[in-house]
Amino acid sequence: MSDIIKAKKKIVILTGAGISTESGIPDFRSPGGLWSIYRTVTIQEFLANEEDRKYYWQYKRESYKNIVKANPNDGHNALVTLEKKGKLQCLITQNIDGLHQIAGNSSNLILELHGTDRQVICLKCSKLYNRDEIQAHLERSDDVPVCDDCGGWLKPATVSFGQNLQPQIIEQAMYESEHCDAFLVIGSSLTVHPAALLPEHAKRSGAWLGILNGDPTPLDSFSDWVCHDPAGQVLQKAINITI
Ligand code: NAD
Repeated sequence: MSDIIKAKKKIVILTGAGISTESGIPDFRSPGGLWSIYRTVTIQEFLANEEDRKYYWQYKRESYKNIVKANPNDGHNALVTLEKKGKLQCLITQNIDGLHQIAGNSSNLILELHGTDRQVICLKCSKLYNRDEIQAHLERSDDVPVCDDCGGWLKPATVSFGQNLQPQIIEQAMYESEHCDAFLVIGSSLTVHPAALLPEHAKRSGAWLGILNGDPTPLDSFSDWVCHDPAGQVLQKAINITI
């Protein structure tokens, strides 16, 4: 892969939960992942039932503890090097942990497809809240947090199951996938749509396609390069050392 990194100039990266497991944030589907501990709550269930809102916020209170104590790892840092070398066209992420920004990638190159856990939004008036402020409320009380201004329910600024992605973000991600010369997937099972459509779109538009993921993905046989080793060490070697 280092040859490709050297040769290509407009690289688009798609990251998933697997790039952050080496920072101590569990992914969804691996053994011990979040889905083996908590059930998902759809946006429809959140809106309809107080018990589901409470359960959802309990899960968010606990999962956020992993996020605040996590630091970027070799994988995140290698993507900062890629940007510094002027080769990173766009960093599309399914992650909600904000670690790419903390590592030092520029916000204007990052597309957060599924939003961010670092902010909280009022579902009625869209007022934004700092997540740490809401976390402090959650540590004091099991009550579902509500908006100071309008009394609407607060929810992390993430895209929940059953909730639509922001159209301008997915449109931009499609555009970037169509206009790159290499597209690299890192740490995603490629089972969540529409994110999983982006690599295929890039390859059909003429880009080289690589997949760096611990487990096989549905697109492995369609790709130009596949690697199942841990992302951090592979990226460290391919980007930090060889550029
Ligand atoms: P996923 O859980 O479906 O897949 C993660 C993949 O990463 C797995 O296939 C696993 O084999 C691989 N993986 C784990 N550790 C790895 C490593 N060190 N190196 C390389 N590969 C590794 O995750 P997904 O495809 O991102 O989709 C799940 C959804 O979960 C996303 O929508 C995302 O928003 C959300 N999520 C985000 C976080 C986060 O922000 N860190 C954590 C959990 C879930």
